[in-house]
Amino acid sequence: MRLHPCTAIPLHRVYTDYCIPGSAVNQYLALLTPSPPCFIVERMFEAAFPGSFDPPTLGHLNIIERASSIFDELAVVVAENRQKNYLFSAQERLEMLNEMVKSRKNVRCFIWESLIVDFMKKENIKLLIRGIRGMDDFSYEFELSMMNKALYPHIETLFMTTDPRYIVLRSSSIKELASFHGDVSLMVPPLVVEALKKKYSGV
Ligand code: ADP
Repeated sequence: MRLHPCTAIPLHRVYTDYCIPGSAVNQYLALLTPSPPCFIVERMFEAAFPGSFDPPTLGHLNIIERASSIFDELAVVVAENRQKNYLFSAQERLEMLNEMVKSRKNVRCFIWESLIVDFMKKENIKLLIRGIRGMDDFSYEFELSMMNKALYPHIETLFMTTDPRYIVLRSSSIKELASFHGDVSLMVPPLVVEALKKKYSGV
C-alpha cells in the first residue's frame, strides 16, 4: 500500500481551556507538543482483473491469487452489462468473490456498469489482467486488448496463462453442468456449488 502524497494531512490538537487553575501549565505544555500527525491513506490499485464471473470459478481464483502475489493492490471488477443475461446478479457475483478473496487483504472487488477503460481511468490503473486458456481465448483477448488500447492508450494488457488444472473450466459449461445437477465441486469453491444448487433447484 502506498501513501498518496496529496492526501497526507497532519492534524494537531488545539487546547482552548485555560480556566482551571493548576491545569493551565499542563495544557500549555501540551500545546508545545502537538500530537503525532495523522494520515489519510488512499488505496492505489496497480492492476485490474475484470470479468463476468458468472459464476466465479477456481480458474478465476487462481488468476486472482497469482496476480495478487505479484502486484501490491489488485482490483477485481465484476462487469455488469445490461445487455447480457447473467445467472447471478452483480451483487451475488460480488458477494461470492468477496468471500473467495477475503484472506487476501490486497484484493478488492467492485461492480462496474460501463467500459472497463473508464474504470481504469477513474482509478488511475494502467494494467489490465486477462486469463488465457488457449488459442481461442488468445485471439479474442488480443482483439479486445487492441480495442481497449485504442480507447485508452495508456493501458497495457497482461495475459496470464491458465494453470493446467483449470484449462477446461469455463463459467458457461459449469452452469450447464450444474443445471443438469452434475458435480461441479472440483471446478468452483463450495460456496459457489451451493449457490448453483440453489439457482437450479429454484429455492
Ligand atoms: P468475460 O465475459 O470478461 O470473458 P469471464 O468471467 O468469462 O468474463 O472471464 C474473465 C477472465 O477470466 C477472462 O480473461 C477469461 O479468459 C479468464 N478466465 C476464465 N476462466 C479461466 C480459467 N479457467 N483459467 C484462466 N483464466 C480464466
